[in-house]
Amino acid sequence: MANGAKDNGDKPDVETGRDFIRDIVRADLEAGRHKNVVTRFPPEPNGYLHIGHAKSICLNFGIAQEFGGHCHLRFDDTNPTKEEQEYIDAIERDVRWLGFDWGPHLYYASDYFERLYEWAEHLIKAGKAYIDDQSPEEMRAARGTLTAPGTNSPFRDRSVGENLDLFRRMRAGEFPNGARVLRARIDMTSGNINLRDPVLYRILHASHPRTGTQWCIYPSYDFAHGQSDAIEGITHSICTLEFEDHRPLYDWFIENLPVPSRPRQYEFARLNLTYTVLSKRVLTGLVRGGHVSGWDDPRMPTIAGLRRRGVPAEAIRDFVRRIGVAKANSIVDANMFDFSVREVLNRTAERRMAVLRPLRVVIENYPEGQFEELEAANHPDDVNAGTRKIRFGRELFVERDDFMENPPKKFFRLSPGNEVRLRYAYFVTCRDVVKNAAGDIVELRCTYDPATRGGNAPDGRKVKATMHWVSAVDAITAEVRLYNPLFRRPDPDASQFQDDLNPDSLEVLPDAKLEPALRGAEPERPVQFERQGYFVRDRDSTPERPVFNRTVGLRDSYAKAGND
Ligand code: ATP
Ligand code: MG
Repeated sequence: MANGAKDNGDKPDVETGRDFIRDIVRADLEAGRHKNVVTRFPPEPNGYLHIGHAKSICLNFGIAQEFGGHCHLRFDDTNPTKEEQEYIDAIERDVRWLGFDWGPHLYYASDYFERLYEWAEHLIKAGKAYIDDQSPEEMRAARGTLTAPGTNSPFRDRSVGENLDLFRRMRAGEFPNGARVLRARIDMTSGNINLRDPVLYRILHASHPRTGTQWCIYPSYDFAHGQSDAIEGITHSICTLEFEDHRPLYDWFIENLPVPSRPRQYEFARLNLTYTVLSKRVLTGLVRGGHVSGWDDPRMPTIAGLRRRGVPAEAIRDFVRRIGVAKANSIVDANMFDFSVREVLNRTAERRMAVLRPLRVVIENYPEGQFEELEAANHPDDVNAGTRKIRFGRELFVERDDFMENPPKKFFRLSPGNEVRLRYAYFVTCRDVVKNAAGDIVELRCTYDPATRGGNAPDGRKVKATMHWVSAVDAITAEVRLYNPLFRRPDPDASQFQDDLNPDSLEVLPDAKLEPALRGAEPERPVQFERQGYFVRDRDSTPERPVFNRTVGLRDSYAKAGND
């Protein structure tokens, strides 16, 4: 509907999936302003993608899908000092993994360097650009402030001929880095600082991942971006709000250059998440400073980190859909992200039993050397997921937290004299506690009731707790890594992020016991460890010693603790 934009205001609507940008696109198509919608996702390959980029990716690729257009992946590779092939490869991998396909539309801003250069000469010839010899400090001082106008450069009135000559010599490599720049000649008194003669080209004697040493001048982001959009026939150039003040400049270039199409820029609110920093500068600092193990450390908000932590791509897409697209900046509660992860995993992850902090249990009335096979469901709501066999025997492991020697009133799990159900197995009662010389509990002596096989008593008696367990004879010992937020404050200070780091963001449990079916666990296929959360095999696993990451805990694991 053409008036959709009005109806919907700028509030996203989770139910219909509508938002102000989709309303604009729909209205443009219906009014015939465009036959086909073309969007782009334009990362700079100077770091890995994060969950904020995922919002932009889902928006740009999502709109193209929904309206039958296409979305380009364009590397904004205009600053060779910060960009690397590793990042290009990682970005492609991550966009694909998120479920999007750019088809043949893979581009690089560097593909357009020659055309951008010609357009720079075009501006010079029209008297709309000049070479400035001021030092960076002088330029900064002359730019003015938000309240004071800037002042004209003494080089602003150079002749076209002199400007052209100097620009060509810049390109030819005659001058060192920083000696001079090419600036647009717009208005040093403009209320919009972006229009105060912005820099179009700077000298940079640096090798570029794609163009090598072919160039020693590079276009600025502002000069490259809109023109790349125009070359590619982008209809809706969607970016985050911090570019709102750049839009007049974006439009100025489009108006003053012989570009083949006239794209328009629209801005939406970037994603901010509590306890998280979404700034490539900070994420790079975390990696370089050794605060994390790498870009794909499972604590990182990067796509690669989330994937390694076990987060499914579907959960990221679901989260982005739920938060919607709005025009005003806000901070999203990180719990909303966890909610989406649980939603997907609760449906898709198979159930297994694992004991994270083991306590040995000996069933005194179960014969030594004897075992029996019990049947366990792989998914409580999905019979098609099937069942597996687990072995019950005399020696087992239970969770240390599931036992208390002197329990408070509402503690219903194991304690001396108390009876509980072991999941899929029997009722057991704790008879005795074995301690070492230091007084630590090292073993529980229990008995089981053979009449309760399968977990129900024929006499109808009830127990108040069902516990997970693993049989000792075939348990796999594993390392389990629990992750907590990387920052201890909901709004970490990006300028001093080291101060806000959470020292307890990683907790390693070296001696977890897993049921044998987990030997076959695949990377990127999380399972639910019953009563614990969702876990996924990490690539640090060896055949002897698997490593599992906790993707996310169960919804109410905290609320419930000590309470059942
Ligand atoms: P920088 O430009 O400082 O290197 P950046 O995060 O903006 O960092 P880009 O590679 O320029 O990185 O981003 C690519 C696209 O992703 C841009 O269109 C940008 O607007 C968008 N984007 C970046 N961060 C977010 C975010 N937190 N939420 C939504 N979109 C984002
Ligand atoms: Mg950017």
